[in-house]
Amino acid sequence: MKDDVMVEEAKRRKKIVPNKTPMPEQPPQVRRFNFQEVSLGYTPEMAMQEASRCLQCKKPGCVTGCPVNVPIPRFIKAIREGDFSTAIGIIKETNFLPAVCGRVCPQECQCEKNCVLAGKYEPVGIGRLERFAADESLKNGGPKVPKVAPSTGRKIAVIGSGPSGLTCAFDLARKGHRVVVFEALHEPGGVLVYGIPEFRLPKKIVRSEIEALKKMGVEIMNNAVAGRLFSIDEVMKEYDACFIGTGAGLPKFMGIEGENLNGVYSANEFLTRINLMRAYRFPDVDTPVKRGNCVAVFGGGNVALDAARTALRIGASEVMLIYRRSLAELPARKEEVLHAREEGIRFELCANPVRIIGDDQGLVRAVESVRMDLCELDGSGRRSPKPIQGSEFTIPVDVAIVALGTGANLLASQGMSSVQVNEKKYIIADEETGRTCIEGVYAGGDIVTGSATVISAMGAGRKAAKAMHDYLAGKT
Ligand code: FAD
Ligand code: SF4
Repeated sequence: MKDDVMVEEAKRRKKIVPNKTPMPEQPPQVRRFNFQEVSLGYTPEMAMQEASRCLQCKKPGCVTGCPVNVPIPRFIKAIREGDFSTAIGIIKETNFLPAVCGRVCPQECQCEKNCVLAGKYEPVGIGRLERFAADESLKNGGPKVPKVAPSTGRKIAVIGSGPSGLTCAFDLARKGHRVVVFEALHEPGGVLVYGIPEFRLPKKIVRSEIEALKKMGVEIMNNAVAGRLFSIDEVMKEYDACFIGTGAGLPKFMGIEGENLNGVYSANEFLTRINLMRAYRFPDVDTPVKRGNCVAVFGGGNVALDAARTALRIGASEVMLIYRRSLAELPARKEEVLHAREEGIRFELCANPVRIIGDDQGLVRAVESVRMDLCELDGSGRRSPKPIQGSEFTIPVDVAIVALGTGANLLASQGMSSVQVNEKKYIIADEETGRTCIEGVYAGGDIVTGSATVISAMGAGRKAAKAMHDYLAGKT
């Protein structure tokens, strides 16, 4: 039976529950004062109830919508039958970080968008079920260490320990290669540890996945900055192949007056100070951060929302997001926008900062913005914003956070004599294999595509690992 016919049949038999099983959450008035997770996860009963909404399609659109093709109907069936350890085993066949992906993947644009129920009903809560299966396994002793093939005697360097580098390391270690990961920061995980805040992704989850990787024999060298302490050319003299997954963490600023005032942060710096350096505990820790009373965040993506909600949690009494388009164009995930609004973040929409105003001591005192009119559609399919003459207005603030995107982390590629980069300085690599113009050197994740998603970076790490394995086996 065709899948859309199955929907009609299930509907006729009144088998379809139209809405997702709700996920318990901390109440907004409580969570805005703490860093604990907002969404609390399903109980086994809730998970089995949600799993029973799945129609077990023969040609499941959800699987094609998933960048790493998790066998979704199979793991959902196992949950429905109460066999949670089988469920996590099935997910792990293709996804090395399910507890992370179940929390932060934009399922609404991927697997859930392609679910046969989507449109007429709410799609199956695939992300919530993936998270449930992963959390159950963590409760029962953490991720199992997968079997590793006998040693091939080959040595591979992975530069950068974000989702692309970790996935590449995982796949290559499984094939029996010796893998060493070089990470510039003092803790591995990339954006998963320094960017995405604890209330969306608890760090202990990332750490436990990385521990499993170490148990497979992967070595992780922290404080190892490629391009400064050693060059990729030097790495290639010692290793048989190399993967570059250094991400796109270079902050972009607007170039407006006042951006060098004391109290202006890039979102990446602000989040790193808090997530990685624990600056909210200063002076017990070395890194300080300015705790604004009134904070403005420029931008409308996930990063802007993370910065705004973090500022609220470290003590701001008012936090506003200044975004140049309307709510309809806001690029952040809908669920995060809803959470932010519930927590009291103010949305100053169709407005663009033009100047940050300081006092005679160089401290931020206010931000001046202009109202924007939304005109015809631009190349991105969104209405292009145009400033409305004479509509300038000023809001008093003492901290301003710029979250308007990031650029390529350049250091590693600067340490290579002949790697090709494009006009925006991202490494040029083959989409299917991650192969660069230098033999044995592969690249993937944000350093190739620009800022994207956790799962797309993982997908790139996986494709590169396969190509590198073939290369080492002399197949290419
Ligand atoms: P990264 O995660 O950036 O990791 C790169 C690593 O390389 C870092 O650890 C870095 O320190 C290291 N490195 C850099 N240069 C060097 C060097 N020279 N030598 C050695 N190491 C180096 N995506 C989602 O799917 N969902 C979300 O909800 C989401 N929220 C986000 C929130 C924030 C605040 C940010 C910043 C991003 C978010 N993203 C989200 C995007 C997602 O995190 C990234 O697309 C993904 O992490 C990219 O993975 P990567 O492996 O390419 O790079
Ligand atoms: Fe079909 Fe949706 Fe179940 Fe996938 S999750 S098998 S698309 S009902």
